Amino acid sequence: MKREEKSKGSANRTIEEGQHQSLTVIGEEDRIVLIEWLNAAVGTKSYERVSKLIRNIRAADAAVDSALRDRVFIHVGRAGDIIPAEKRRRRREVDKLLLPVSRAFAEYLFHPRLTCILFDKRRWWFDLFGESVRSDYKFTRPNGRRVYEADAVFGVLRLASYRSLDRIRECLTCQKWLYAHPSHKKFCNSACQLKYFASNPSQKEKRAAYMRRYRIDQKEKMERALPVARQPRTPSTVRP
Ligand SMILES: [Zn+2]
Repeated sequence: MKREEKSKGSANRTIEEGQHQSLTVIGEEDRIVLIEWLNAAVGTKSYERVSKLIRNIRAADAAVDSALRDRVFIHVGRAGDIIPAEKRRRRREVDKLLLPVSRAFAEYLFHPRLTCILFDKRRWWFDLFGESVRSDYKFTRPNGRRVYEADAVFGVLRLASYRSLDRIRECLTCQKWLYAHPSHKKFCNSACQLKYFASNPSQKEKRAAYMRRYRIDQKEKMERALPVARQPRTPSTVRP
């Protein structure tokens, strides 16, 4: 009953009324902390919940992208015109994928806190702290800070809000989680990359063929450009 009252109350709050924080309170980046937590938590219930959440947000994201490309949410016509059945189906599909994302956070509780630090210039230290959940996986970072499932979830929320969640992915060879920087990165290290291409020769051949074509194109471009660059300049007007 209490929970229902609470969720009803938060449903009345507009997006402008929400709190947003770009980093953890001590400035740790999600792309590091979340990756560490995911790799340490593999095989636990906490991991199942968080990785499912990441998959669900990604699936909804992809469906929204594709629906926007196909102008599913735009209907040009006179008032009262019926929206084509295919468009309605696609809209329902997107709603269905957004639903588990909006429901996933009901179990997580975050509390605002204002701590008075006596010998600090800043004095008041604001943060939101997550409560421990059932079968929580707590990971201790090398600096001693504990990361709970709620903290990993907060990282997912932040990365999703910056549209960076698709950069959190698993290495194609060893399935370890990594943060893709640059965005096309698919392996946790060069050893995994070499291993992947060694066991997938077709991928290696494709890449080699692409590089051969690329080098030929570059050479042709240079050969076309050089004679133009070497041509002596002719005056545009000849004075008597
Ligand atoms: Zn790897």
